[in-house]
Amino acid sequence: MVSSHRIFDGRRLLIFLSLLLSAGFFATTLGSYFVSKNAIRQAIIGRELPLAANNIYVEFQKDLVQPVLIASTMAHDTFLRDWALKGEKNIEEMNRYLQEIKLRYGAFSSFFISEHSSNYYTGDGLLKQVSPQEPRDAWYYRLRDLKEPYEINVDIDMANQDAMTIFINYQVFDFAGKLMGATGIGMTLDAMHLRIKDYQQRYQRTIYFVDAKGLVVLFGNEIGQASLDLHERPGMRDLIDNILLEKNGGYQYASQGVNYLLNVHYIPELDWYLFVEKDEAEALAGVRHALYINLGVCLIVTVFVVLLMNVSLSRYQRRLEEMASTDKLTGMLNRQAFTILMDKLLAEYVRQPRPVSMLLLDVDHFKLVNDEHGHATGDRVLCRVAEQIQQALRKSDIAVRWGGEEFLVVLDKCSLDEARQIAEKIRQRIAQYSLMEEDQNIAIPITVSLGVSQFSGDEPTEQTISRADAALYRAKQGGRNRVCLATPL
Ligand code: GH3
Ligand code: MG
Ligand code: MG
Repeated sequence: MVSSHRIFDGRRLLIFLSLLLSAGFFATTLGSYFVSKNAIRQAIIGRELPLAANNIYVEFQKDLVQPVLIASTMAHDTFLRDWALKGEKNIEEMNRYLQEIKLRYGAFSSFFISEHSSNYYTGDGLLKQVSPQEPRDAWYYRLRDLKEPYEINVDIDMANQDAMTIFINYQVFDFAGKLMGATGIGMTLDAMHLRIKDYQQRYQRTIYFVDAKGLVVLFGNEIGQASLDLHERPGMRDLIDNILLEKNGGYQYASQGVNYLLNVHYIPELDWYLFVEKDEAEALAGVRHALYINLGVCLIVTVFVVLLMNVSLSRYQRRLEEMASTDKLTGMLNRQAFTILMDKLLAEYVRQPRPVSMLLLDVDHFKLVNDEHGHATGDRVLCRVAEQIQQALRKSDIAVRWGGEEFLVVLDKCSLDEARQIAEKIRQRIAQYSLMEEDQNIAIPITVSLGVSQFSGDEPTEQTISRADAALYRAKQGGRNRVCLATPL
């Protein structure tokens, strides 16, 4: 029978270690997450977004600045100016010229308006006459008074079924510097939206263009979103004037619960601002994903380490406990273990009083065994006696090698009378048993005497033992191989 008593409790250490381990893992994982999150955010603001904005700007220049250059070339073309100065005689020639510009540069439309005749020429012929009273022609009269040589105007194109068009309207001056009309080309806004959508997809950024007043003029997603005033966008409201003032830079703002990382690139040719922004959560999705994986790995490692620790710790603990608490020869508990277990039992006794009894057992004439058969045989006898005692007990009983050939047993939930019966059982078992000496082939008869006492409830443990000892003395005096009871207090 193996003792079921645990002397040390390793659970607290285990809980503490797993908490320590988890806290350590958690702290380092979160720490590195925040560090990399910050690094990525800084990289996006400091490098990625400006680079993307720059690339988009270069592409956009090709797409939009080139038409301005074409319009500028047209405005300075000697053919166009000579033709107008010579009285706009051969309309065919102008048609051909405008048609060729349109075809060569892939424009949606091309035009020339004469200040002298108010004629509006397109690649397909004379369209109409502009008039200051016509609201649709207001742009021309506005352009005439502009200080800058051109404007970019988003408007509907009468020459092309009123399609939304970006016009590059360029002032034309004669060789003496006198205004003689306007020329330029138009591109459909749809085409521009498609271009911006294409940038957005390729760069994985939101891209839009903002004019000097803070109005969104071109947007990749919805045409309807153009002409949104950024002064009205939550989160952007307080930032926009500063952005327009600084012209280029990196910004962060939050709008409707979403954090945006923004880079602004000023386009001096158009007096527009290129806005390139990214949803921070989207940008950091990768690191967050890595965080979840890390946390998962940490959790698995922690669980694994704790389990492993638990197994090896309990194994070591069991061995240590055994070493520290058992008697080497008989495998019974030693006095140290008895002290600890008795303290535990007494603490339980305070909560839940019940009868507790003790047996003190001494081998009769053991000295003779040693003297006649040798010390080794004496040791074997002690082992057999210990076995017989343990076999007669319950798991909850505490059996201790008390001294040389003395054993103490604590019987929990056991009255004096029940203890007497158990003592009697042990005595008989040992008396019936005789150790066969292997080499000498002789049987050694062994008997034991026992003293039994019951814990009074308020006496010190030593006193219960001492009363059992007195009873044992009486058993010896009475002729040995017997059980004597201590008088109850
Ligand atoms: P009594 O019936 O009065 O108990 O007589 P006894 O001979 O058993 O009493 P005593 O106390 O005089 O002798 C006990 C002996 O047990 C003396 C000691 O040498 C021996 N002894 C103590 N521990 C051990 C041990 O671990 N192994 C062996 N072999 N002998 C031991
Ligand atoms: Mg003795
Ligand atoms: Mg003895």
